[in-house]
Amino acid sequence: MHVQIQPDPVQKLTRMGDVTLYEPAGDTPHAERVSKRVPRQGPDLADCISHVQTPKGSKAVLKTMVTTACEKNCYYCPFRAGRGQMERLTFKPDELAKVFDDMQRAKLVDGLFLSSGIIKGGITTQDKIIDTVEIIRRKYQYRGYVHLKIMPGAEHDQIYRAMQIADRVSINLEGPTSERLQALAPKKDFNDELVKMLQWAGEIKRSTPYRLASLVTQFVVGAVGDTDLELLSTSERLYRQIGLARAYYSAFNPVTHTPFENIAAVNPQREFRLYQSSFLLRDYGWDVEDLPFVDQGNLRLDVDPKRAWADQNLRQAPVDLVHADREALLRVPGIGPQSADAILKARRSGTLRDLADLRKLGIRAPEHSAPYVLFDGRRPPQQLPLFG
Ligand code: SF4
Repeated sequence: MHVQIQPDPVQKLTRMGDVTLYEPAGDTPHAERVSKRVPRQGPDLADCISHVQTPKGSKAVLKTMVTTACEKNCYYCPFRAGRGQMERLTFKPDELAKVFDDMQRAKLVDGLFLSSGIIKGGITTQDKIIDTVEIIRRKYQYRGYVHLKIMPGAEHDQIYRAMQIADRVSINLEGPTSERLQALAPKKDFNDELVKMLQWAGEIKRSTPYRLASLVTQFVVGAVGDTDLELLSTSERLYRQIGLARAYYSAFNPVTHTPFENIAAVNPQREFRLYQSSFLLRDYGWDVEDLPFVDQGNLRLDVDPKRAWADQNLRQAPVDLVHADREALLRVPGIGPQSADAILKARRSGTLRDLADLRKLGIRAPEHSAPYVLFDGRRPPQQLPLFG
């Protein structure tokens, strides 16, 4: 008689391993992936732990899934229905909560990122995600960092509850438009499921007087002809209209035995340029029309978008740092929101005269700003003396 022995929860986690490698959980998504490139002899529990930058500091976070089974068929995904090469493992909520608590008490982790494949619909799956965290919060009294995925088709009240018990929730659009999502994930509905859930989450956040989870989304970049203009236009709308905390961009990587296995991987530099541009939209007051798109709506890979814009616009019309307003200061390469505020403060005390003064304000490489600025009508030298 063949007796199948069920894996225990630690074995399940270990066998699942790196299931959320391309789902960022924190503020430095690239670093999350790099920290996972440590060669190992075989399956290791460490594979499902990532070092993640969170608003509560750097944390070792357990990143895993309620189940690696899924009834949807997203073309890029290793967990898609019918992909035979993938071992399907499922946790019950109390089982996953207990193993997280054990790991947390053993100081292996201090944070949870929880995703899932979809079985019996988004609502049933969302219940399992929420139930897991309810047990972690109530039974095990865990007060630390939790980041939850919201399943396509989840209900309004589930989103509300998830935002109460988590620090961050992800509602992933995957594609920047309905047509792009259709080409990536034909069983997901852009407007009726995903955009609607993002709108609900934004309304919930605006109408709730106490602190709720922040809201993020993710895009799969470059598999189906999506342009940077499309991705950043949708990101801009989400920042302005929904109060999105951040957009994640995940450069497409082909997975074997999926319909997209022969599509080329996307250059990770594209992901990096999208992040730079996204921060200009979110933190620097730029509009998507300001971004220096070339080549049918894409950004140059070889140059920082802010520098590309400055080369086109500021070399002949530099920003006078002694007189410009904050918005104009934020156009200068090397000057971010904190530096702009420091410049405005220094101006009030009359202590802003040259590039050396910028260095005293904490701007590390003021010579990079030199081609684009004036000091009270004077162009600064392009090089700073080494000492002085
Ligand atoms: S719903 Fe999620 S887990 Fe399922 S196939 Fe799509 S991306 Fe993969």
